[in-house]
Amino acid sequence: MAPSKDASILVVGAGTFGCSTALHLARRGYTNVTVLDPYELPSPISAGNDVNKIIEEGSPDSDDGSNYVSQRILQVAYEGWIKDPVFTPYFHNTGFIIAAHTPAGLEQLTKREMVHKKSEYEWLDDAADFKKTMPEGVLTGDFPNWKGGWKKEGAGWVFARGALMSAFRAAQSLGVKFVTGDPGNVTKLMEEGGDIVGVETKDGKQHRAELTILAAGANAPQLLDMKDQLRPTAWTLAHIKMTEEECKLYKDLPVLFNLESGFFMEPDAERGELKICDEHPGYCNWSTSPSGHRQSVPFAKQQVPLESEARVREFLSHTMPHLSSRPLVFARICWCADTPDRNFLISHHPDYKSLVLAVGGSGHGFMHITSVGGFVVDLVEGGLESRLREAFRWRPETAVDRDWENVQGRRGGPNKVMNFGDVGEDEWTSLESRL
Ligand code: FAD
Repeated sequence: MAPSKDASILVVGAGTFGCSTALHLARRGYTNVTVLDPYELPSPISAGNDVNKIIEEGSPDSDDGSNYVSQRILQVAYEGWIKDPVFTPYFHNTGFIIAAHTPAGLEQLTKREMVHKKSEYEWLDDAADFKKTMPEGVLTGDFPNWKGGWKKEGAGWVFARGALMSAFRAAQSLGVKFVTGDPGNVTKLMEEGGDIVGVETKDGKQHRAELTILAAGANAPQLLDMKDQLRPTAWTLAHIKMTEEECKLYKDLPVLFNLESGFFMEPDAERGELKICDEHPGYCNWSTSPSGHRQSVPFAKQQVPLESEARVREFLSHTMPHLSSRPLVFARICWCADTPDRNFLISHHPDYKSLVLAVGGSGHGFMHITSVGGFVVDLVEGGLESRLREAFRWRPETAVDRDWENVQGRRGGPNKVMNFGDVGEDEWTSLESRL
């Protein structure tokens, strides 16, 4: 049964999923919503607090229906980017280039992504083809063995931090309360009478609620036994400073994404910095819990391993060698949480009727900030369409004896999930932190 419109609702986490959920709850008329987060927005540990993220529109479903969920949620998300005034200012419909350069990567590009067969992609066969996708002087590299596809519209990038803050402000203006700092730092879900009745925060306060929605991203397993359905995994990003002239030249570029070496979008408008991500299956931070269970525990760090910096420079040397030795001005690790099938986990908890999970961004969650909260509210009101409900369900059976080393379809770097435990203290960048 749907909660009453004045029911007390707590959202734990004001990141991508939390802000989206807060906005959609407020838009549906819920008047007593509080969002808790340890940090003032934008939270420095939110995966959504970033200069840019890739986005694409959905395609029609495949004939056998196997793509229904991924394509349906992309279609709904994209509607938000082109129609919802909270989000439209942040979308840049610049197009998207997807590429690979090793035999295995090229096989993935053609067999799984089917790029060569899709009519919306122009095939890029050599360095000259890649260079013509951008103004002269941008792509100066040799693109060794690169091939790829160029989709000219219906994809691009979004100014992520701007969109996150816009969702936050819109939710706040509709009456949602945001509590940050120690008073928003949830230390425990309160269990009473076989249900979750609210949370405790670091300042020692108890917050009772009729409904609690856990949207704490990669930190969710710190608060609830997720039965191995979430694997907190970190990726790496680095910024270099661009000149004013370069910022003009690099404006409105398509996204360039090599699925086995890295990607970049245009420099951000605030600081004139170009963000580069090196592509790889991710890093975990393995430890053993007091009960002897293997767990990857997130930690915040505004540095990246030197091996990641080297991969960034190699990516630049193939694409834009004139930038490949420029110093980094910022870098960070960024945590997300993978489910075994990389579908979101948006579900009631089977044992606690007043607890809802909104987690499992699985590396593609940001583009859904426009709409993911709508699915959460649909679920709460009993109206989530059945195929999405099935895909997003609480599904511990998919994580029994989970293969923690599974690359989950990702490539790059050593083509394996890496362990921060193997990175020595002196094997990190030493850049100034930004708070
Ligand atoms: P988050 O946004 O991380 O939010 C979690 C929130 O919970 C944070 O605000 C945190 O402060 C809060 N929190 C933590 N602990 C507590 C606590 N104890 N109490 C209360 N609150 C707490 N997606 C795309 O669509 N396109 C991309 O191009 C893309 N690129 C990415 C690149 C990188 C490097 C990474 C790491 C991710 C990328 N993603 C991308 C994925 C996307 O960013 C995530 O899927 C999405 O942001 C996850 O949202 P979330 O709300 O689950 O987590």
